[in-house]
Amino acid sequence: MNIPKESKEVLIRLLKGNEQFVNGKYEAKNITIETLRALATYQNPHACVLSCSDSRVVPELIFEAGIGELFVVRIAGITVGTNVMESIEYAVKKLNVPLLMLLGHDNCGVMEYAQESYPELKEHFQTILKCVYPAIDIDKNSLESEDKLAKHHTIWVEEFLLNNSKIIREAVDNKKLYIAKCHLSHQTGKVHMLNDVLDELEIEEI
Ligand SMILES: [Zn+2]
Repeated sequence: MNIPKESKEVLIRLLKGNEQFVNGKYEAKNITIETLRALATYQNPHACVLSCSDSRVVPELIFEAGIGELFVVRIAGITVGTNVMESIEYAVKKLNVPLLMLLGHDNCGVMEYAQESYPELKEHFQTILKCVYPAIDIDKNSLESEDKLAKHHTIWVEEFLLNNSKIIREAVDNKKLYIAKCHLSHQTGKVHMLNDVLDELEIEEI
């Protein structure tokens, strides 16, 4: 796998920020009113993070990031629809972020609901279920646990974005964007990459 240089730098920065968080050495900078004032009329985030709305998943905190560093799109279960996809496209096309992180997590309520409901569409939350069921259709082993389904779903989300967004697909093809598929462990606070690119990042342990 070939990660564009700028994407790689940003990914390492985020994973090292996560390491700080995990080790209890959280020292985020750029979190005061002065930072916001300095960025009053523009933004230049390093990365776009698609994360769950879950109150325990707070990208700026787990990556030790400050104001203006992350363009965060939060939606229950990282279920992608048109608005979510266009929000990501804005970050890619207008803000030129070199990294899109898809961040699933443990104990996700959406995954639990999808497992209970599959393959039926119940009265409520149908749009969300329709965004999770394809991951189960592809691999029924996804039903074994919420966390397994969350990881399989994150992988499906990448496929969905590449298949449905010309902006995202072209950015990836042109090596302007790298999509990192990740998962947050609640017990450790650690963000794991779902694909093995650590060798390419040239860091021993993150
Ligand atoms: Zn969730």
